[in-house]
Parts: sequence; C-alpha cells; structure tokens
Amino acid sequence: LEREFTFKHSSVKWKGVPIMVANMDTTGTFQMAEAVYKHKIFTCIHKYYTLVDWVAFAEVVNSKSDLDDSIFNYVAVSSGSKDSDLENLQSILSHMPQINFICLDVANGYTEHFVSFVVRVRLLYPDKVIIAGSVVTREMTEELLIKGADIIKVGIGPGSVCTTRKKTGVGYPQLSAIIECADAAHGLNGHILCDGGCSVPGDFGKAFGGGSDFIMSGGMFSGHTESGGKNVEIDGKYFKEFYGMSSSTAMEKHSGGVATYRTSEGKRVLIPYKGSVVNTILDILGGLRSTCTYVGSDKLKHLSKRTTFIRVTQQLNEVYGSSEVN
Ligand code: 5GP
Repeated sequence: LEREFTFKHSSVKWKGVPIMVANMDTTGTFQMAEAVYKHKIFTCIHKYYTLVDWVAFAEVVNSKSDLDDSIFNYVAVSSGSKDSDLENLQSILSHMPQINFICLDVANGYTEHFVSFVVRVRLLYPDKVIIAGSVVTREMTEELLIKGADIIKVGIGPGSVCTTRKKTGVGYPQLSAIIECADAAHGLNGHILCDGGCSVPGDFGKAFGGGSDFIMSGGMFSGHTESGGKNVEIDGKYFKEFYGMSSSTAMEKHSGGVATYRTSEGKRVLIPYKGSVVNTILDILGGLRSTCTYVGSDKLKHLSKRTTFIRVTQQLNEVYGSSEVN
C-alpha cells in the first residue's frame, strides 16, 4: 500500500501510505500524528496550533522512546489564506525547517485571492510540498498546479459533518470530481487528494480506483482516543464530539461565534467512542489490500488502472439491516 512520490514543483520525495488525517481540530491533532505515522499515514495538523504548541510537540517527540524525527515526514502545517494564517505558518516553519509539507486549505478554492496566495507561498517556499484546495473541476486543478501547488485538494460538500450542499446548494459528486481532477492533474505531473466522503474502508478503494493519489478523511478518524473534541457520557455510554470546521461549534471556539453575514456550513455530532485509532487503521488498510486483490492490482499505484465502475441503484444487501451485532 505504500507509494513513492516526486512532486511537480518541490524536490521533496515522499514514501508512505497515501492516506491523510484531515486538518480538523477534532482529528488533525499531534496525538493522532504520533499514532498514525507508525503506519506511515500522514496527518495534516490543524491550523489552530501555534509555534509554542509545535515546539512542545517537538520536545515530546524527543522525549518519547517510541517516537523519532521521521514523524516530521508525516505531518503538514495547515494555513488558511488570511495574513494572520500566513504569519503563523511562517513562524512555525522558520523554527521547524524539517517539515516539508504545507496544507493551504480554504472552503472555496475558486477565488483570485486564493490563487495569488498559492503563488505567494510558493515563492516563499520553493522546496516545500504545497497541498492546495478545495476545488472540484479540471480547470481550477490545472490553474492551482500551474501557479505552484503540488497536490490539489478535491471536494466541495462531500464531508460527513459538512452542510454546504444543504445551506448553499453548491457541491459536486465526489467520485466524479476525483475522476475529472485526477485526469487534469496527471496530465500536468501533479497529484490530487480526495478530501471527504470516505465513510467505510471500501470508499478508500473507490477513491484510489477513481485516480486519487492521496485520500484525506475526517470522520473515519473521529471518535478515537487520539482525536480532539470533548468526551461525553450519556446513560453510561461514551461518545466523542466531532464537528465541522464551519459549524457554529467551531466558529464559537475559534472566531467568537458565527458572524451575522454568514451561516454555519457544518454540524456537530457525537461519535460512539471507538478506542485507539490503530483499530480503524488496520480496518482501512486490510480493506484496501483486499480491494487490490479482488481487482488484480499488485500495488496501490496500479489500482486505478484495474478499476471499472458500474452504476448501481443499491450496493448493499440490507435484508438484516445495516448494522452488525457485536
Ligand atoms: P469526512 O472525511 O469526514 O467525510 O470529510 C472531511 C472533510 O470535510 C474535511 O477534510 C474538510 O474538507 C471538510 N469539512 C470539515 N468541516 C467542514 C465544515 O464545517 N463544512 C464543510 N463544508 N466541510 C467541512
């Protein structure tokens, strides 16, 4: 399941399992990175950590015998497109030059402001790998790649706690977006990251099969010991909070509330506590290996060449319901 990449602009080479934990404050935590990098899985660390938090994290990595500096190959620093975000990014990277990945994440990648922001960050960091998005169509995939991004983040509206499609009517079917954007990116030696919409291990096989080079997931990594969010107990059962980064919960936490000119585009849910994230990782990787075997792909890299999609009206036999008795 490991792949080795060389990128369009950056000279950095990367090898690992091309799955990324989402840069949401409930999933993209340092504790998550500590657990998942041992399986060569990547974490886009959320943008609300400051330099002080990163320095503390580096000290934790130094002090724990089961961690080593290779963890920095499996993390990205995230930033929005505001000047204050860029200042935070620059202060972190100036102290921690060993970090090679930057994740430039905005809800709507279709603005001139975002394109010029990507150009600016590329000029500042010619050697870093820049992930940029989100977009869902070929022309904007090409535009961002040409302007300096290495990996295009693809997905508007597919997320498990996203309400953009309900609130704005805007969105694009995620598999169609992947197929279209992968085709555009690969023609320019670029790569794409499918962001959102994977809710079971089989979805990862479909996204890779559709041509995605990397897959980002939030919901699959929520509800674990290593996830952020409050622990909640209801009638003796344990839950963990998970919410969208544009939900009113997140806006109250980070921006002092929902500004009157906008509405929330995300929701808050309670996830039954899932234990350590290791269980989920093994489930995803086990599923993916079997996907490869079923379709006759000797490695993940070849999966999209071996995949055929068939349009269906129903995927699962649910005669006994959709949940399983443990
Ligand atoms: P999931 O893997 O849970 O289906 O989707 C995770 C992705 O949903 C994130 O990586 C991010 O792109 C997107 N997302 C996170 N929070 C929100 C939100 O509040 N609103 C919207 N529209 N998308 C969100």
